Amino acid sequence: MARETLRLAPVSSLVASTPTSWEDVVRSAISLLSKGAQELSISVKGQEVSDGIEDYWALRLTGCQLAAVSEGARERALAPLEALGFFDEVSGGWPRVYGGVLELVLRDRPSPLVMIKEVKGVRIWAKLEWYNPLSLSIKDRTAVGLVEPVAEEVRRAGAVYEASSSNTAVALAALSRVLGFRVRAYIPATAEPFGEQMVRLLGGDVVRAGTSTTELRPIVKADAERDGAIVLNQFESYLNPLAHIRWTAKEIDHQSRVGGLRPRAVYVTMGTRGHAAGVSTYFRLRRPDVEVVGVQPSGGSSIPGLRKETSWTWGLLPPPTRVVEVSDEEAVQAGLSIARETGLLFGPSGGAAAWAAMRDADKNKEEGDYVIVVPDHGVKYLRLYLESLGA
Ligand code: PLP
Repeated sequence: MARETLRLAPVSSLVASTPTSWEDVVRSAISLLSKGAQELSISVKGQEVSDGIEDYWALRLTGCQLAAVSEGARERALAPLEALGFFDEVSGGWPRVYGGVLELVLRDRPSPLVMIKEVKGVRIWAKLEWYNPLSLSIKDRTAVGLVEPVAEEVRRAGAVYEASSSNTAVALAALSRVLGFRVRAYIPATAEPFGEQMVRLLGGDVVRAGTSTTELRPIVKADAERDGAIVLNQFESYLNPLAHIRWTAKEIDHQSRVGGLRPRAVYVTMGTRGHAAGVSTYFRLRRPDVEVVGVQPSGGSSIPGLRKETSWTWGLLPPPTRVVEVSDEEAVQAGLSIARETGLLFGPSGGAAAWAAMRDADKNKEEGDYVIVVPDHGVKYLRLYLESLGA
């Protein structure tokens, strides 16, 4: 086929079937990010993708706006990410007028990155994920990342069952109103009340049992099989980390470039490890000079949304460079001290990330920027903060 058939087409104008393997999509995304370019064109017949379906999904789910396409056989394309509009989705600059809630969730980016501390050239920056509009947490990204690519399938099944420490459940319950399906959330009995309250208020069902999502997952699977519901499975679906490659990690990269930061490390807290996997994959492949530090609770500690693990569940994706452990008391203390210095009340997981970053910054005293991802706001956890104050 003649070379002149090669052209750039908007990804949104193409249609493709669901891939047979999301793992192959992840492999294609890894190749795209590590090479920094789309190497081979996607074959199209009109708007229909006829060959290169995994590559199409990798381009779409990493947020490329354009794809190199050709009629007939696939061709060598070598289209750099920048030429594919890789950063367009996260660079903001639009008037924030959206035609609907789904568009708001997909396009209102980036979330703010704010400097919360500076001591002798060591700066700590917080990425405030409570700016996401549905669950007021980072889990909007996970939820829309899990649902949007398979929205038709979800609508057909009619119901989604999912285990969640709370925030994913709230985000899914909100999306269910927009996309037209039912949600049953399985939330540990030990979680703070906001998750159950919000899901019920949004018209979803809630099962409250056990002390962790790990206990609930087999129950979710059995109930969903019985009722013909879909389990999106944020614990194992690669659509979870892909959402954080596409948005969370890329935003940090873009914001640090345009904001003139010299990031030494990014701190991510770990529950499903979805955002840890997305951020560590992105930085390992695109900015290997930046360390990604995973934060988990120390033994016996309980920090909402986080889980201590010794193994890494995302086989195809690299884990954080280093894992540090923080106690629940340290997380809450860091949250309180930052609130009193800056007026911003992080949820305890954000407090844990802040504690880990402040400890490293204190130890290293090397000039540069330390970025923490703050998953949600502390107003959901007032009981924990007030108990710690003895109130
Ligand atoms: N922080 C909070 C408040 C959460 O709700 C969660 C997950 O539920 C996390 C951190 C961890 O995020 P991830 O599941 O991406 O590891």
